[in-house]
Amino acid sequence: MREAYRKRILVTGGAGFLGSHLCERLLAQGHDVLCVDNFYTGTKDNIAHLLDSPNFELMRHDVTFPLYVEVDEIYNLACPASPIHYQHDPVQTTKTSVHGAINMLGLAKRVHARIFQASTSEVYGDAHVHPQQEAYWGNVNPIGPRSCYDEGKRCAETLFMDYRRQHGLSIKIARIFNTYGPRMHPSDGRVVSNFVMQALSGEPITVYGEGTQTRSFCYVDDMIDAFIRLMNTPEEVIGPVNLGNPHELSMLDIARRIIELTGSSSEIVFKPLPMDDPWHRQPDVSMAREVLGWMPTTALDEGLTRTVRHFRAVTEAMQARSAQCRQAMA
Ligand code: NAD
Ligand code: UDP
Ligand code: UDP
Repeated sequence: MREAYRKRILVTGGAGFLGSHLCERLLAQGHDVLCVDNFYTGTKDNIAHLLDSPNFELMRHDVTFPLYVEVDEIYNLACPASPIHYQHDPVQTTKTSVHGAINMLGLAKRVHARIFQASTSEVYGDAHVHPQQEAYWGNVNPIGPRSCYDEGKRCAETLFMDYRRQHGLSIKIARIFNTYGPRMHPSDGRVVSNFVMQALSGEPITVYGEGTQTRSFCYVDDMIDAFIRLMNTPEEVIGPVNLGNPHELSMLDIARRIIELTGSSSEIVFKPLPMDDPWHRQPDVSMAREVLGWMPTTALDEGLTRTVRHFRAVTEAMQARSAQCRQAMA
C-alpha cells in the first residue's frame, strides 16, 4: 500500500526551468513524479540528474493532446515563457495554454486530482495599478505580439475558474512574476540570462529602451517553495495569488549589478524597446504572505551569484565540447 503522504504528482513542462526545480523538490519530499514535456523549450539536461531515481518518470508528450494517466496532483507549467520563445510560434503558444489547460483540467476531473496553474503577471499587461494586486483586471493588448501568451494565460485562468464553478474541481492559480536562476535557457532572450551570458562573454549588454522600465525578480528556490505551499493550502484557497519578489529595479540597475558581480568589462548598449513592453512591474504579495505564510528570502545579489556560477559552468562545458569537436575534425 502507498504511504499516506506519498503522492503521484504530474508536472507538465517538467523539463523546463521552473518545472525541473519543482520535480527535484517534489522527489526530495518523497513523492512519485511524472514529468511530461515535449521539449519545446525545456531539455533533458535539466532533468538528467533525476532520471536514475525510481520515483521519477519522464514522458515526452504535448499537452495540446489528451493525456490519460492516474495521478493525485497536477502542476500545469507547460508553456514557453520567454518572449522570444512564445512569439516564435504564437498559435502553438495559445494552443498550449488553452487546449493544454482543457486537457489537464479534463484529466483532473476524471481522476479527482487537485490542479495548479502556472499563470503569470502578464495577465496584468501594461498595468495602470502599481504595485499589482490580484483584484486588478489588467490592461492587456488582445491583438499584439505578446497577446498569444497574455491572452492564452488569461483564458486558462477562466477555464480553471469555470471547471471549479461547473465541476467542483480543486484548483490553485499562481500569478508568477519574473523568476530567475540556474537552468534558465542561456539563449531564451530573457533579461537575466541575456545579461549574464553577455557579461560572461565580454559582449555588450543590450539594454532595451532607456533601461528605466522596471521588473521585480524572484529567485527560483523561493518560487518553488511558494508553489508547494499554495498547492497544499486548504480547499477554499484558490487564488489567483501573486507570487514574486517585490524588490523592484530598473533594467539599467540590473545590468550594472550583473557587470559588477561578474567583474565583466562589457559595455552597456541601448537597443529599441520591444512593442507592448510593460513599463513597471511589482507584485503586491500581501495575499501570499497571509495565505501561504510566505515571503521570498533570497537577496538579489545572492541569487544572481548562484545564477552566474551556473551560467559560467554552462559556458565552460560548451567551450570544452566545441574544443573536442575541433580536435576530432582536425
Ligand atoms: P520554460 O520555457 O523553461 O519551461 C516551459 C516548459 O514547458 C518547457 O520544458 C517546454 O518544453 C514545455 N512545453 C512547452 N509547450 C509544451 C507543450 N505543448 N506540451 C508539453 N510541454 C510543453 O519556462 P519556465 O520559466 O520554466 O516557465 C514555466 C511556467 O511558468 C510557464 O507556464 C510560464 O508561463 C510560467 N511563468 C514563468 C515565469 C518566469 O519568470 N520564469 C513567469 C511567469 C510565468
Ligand atoms: N482529457 C484528458 N485526459 C483525461 C480526461 C480528459 O486529456 O483523463 C481531455 C479530453 O480529451 C477532453 C478534455 O480533457 O478533450 C476535457 O475533458 P472534459 O471531461 O472536461 O470534457 P469533454 O470530454 O466532455 O470534452
Ligand atoms: N530586456 C532588456 N535587454 C535584454 C532582454 C530584455 O533590456 O537583453 C528588457 C525587456 O525589454 C523588459 C525586461 O528586460 O523590459 C524584462 O524582459 P524579459 O524578457 O526578461 O521578461 P518580461 O518582459 O516578460 O517581463
